[in-house]
Amino acid sequence: MYIGRFAPSPTGPLHMGSLLAAVISYFDAKAHDGQWLVRIEDIDPPREQPGAAHAILNTLEAHHLYWDGDVLYQSQQHEAYQTAIDQLLSQGDIYPCQCSRKQLTQFNEQHLHTLPHPDQCIQPLDPKAPYALRAKPADFSYQDLYQGIQQGQDGHFVVKRRDQLFAYQLAVVVDDHEQHISHVIRGHDLLDSTPKQLILYQALGYQPPVFGHFPVIVGDNGQKLSKQNFAPAIDDTHALANLKQVFHYLAIPIPETSDLDEFLKFGCEQWKAKRPDCIKAQTIQQNH
Ligand code: GLU
Repeated sequence: MYIGRFAPSPTGPLHMGSLLAAVISYFDAKAHDGQWLVRIEDIDPPREQPGAAHAILNTLEAHHLYWDGDVLYQSQQHEAYQTAIDQLLSQGDIYPCQCSRKQLTQFNEQHLHTLPHPDQCIQPLDPKAPYALRAKPADFSYQDLYQGIQQGQDGHFVVKRRDQLFAYQLAVVVDDHEQHISHVIRGHDLLDSTPKQLILYQALGYQPPVFGHFPVIVGDNGQKLSKQNFAPAIDDTHALANLKQVFHYLAIPIPETSDLDEFLKFGCEQWKAKRPDCIKAQTIQQNH
């Protein structure tokens, strides 16, 4: 059974880049007669914007991107994340670390190619100070649906932060597993995260999903469209025009109909027939 998902972080409203991500994951799920779930990744309150989760769901509904089942909120999942952390700790797959990002960068620069980063904190632990938990390095290898074979080694990423918040890498693996996600179809900007997630899948003994990373939209400055780059919020009152824009990015012809359900159905059939053409490039140039 194909189960896909769209997993936005409520750090602001959807923009064209995130609408594209929603549509692609929706098309791929529907093209496989699968389910399409929505998960709100609200595990990082300092970065979240009040009302954003609600606005994101409204935008999906305004575009007739209806999800299956209930929306899962990561803020409700802390117990499951802690259980995974306890398992990783008892297996010795993660280690406490009190280094700042700067200290680690300096260490890696000084020892690059000469000394592997040790599987523990590079300074003695202060029992009174808070610490983060980091993953020990491991090898990974997988076949990305659109990016081909990816392999190498990764590690030392944070799974639980010093401020006690759970890290995205951990939460996403626990949830994708718990929700039986079979296909993770998301933007190329998250390609770097997949090795980290695969290392956690392996350590936790979970079966990993299939991964596919599609090109992201970049602006004239070569930077991906994002909230940080002030990409404008999607206007829900122009759903058809927004979907036309998405179809343009995917090189899908624009159907005659103005009925949103028919419009999406047509797009889904096109996606099914010609998906490789839709995602040939690494990036999609923003259209003005
Ligand atoms: N929540 C992540 C984001 O909005 C996406 C997570 C994912 O698709 O794995 O960037």
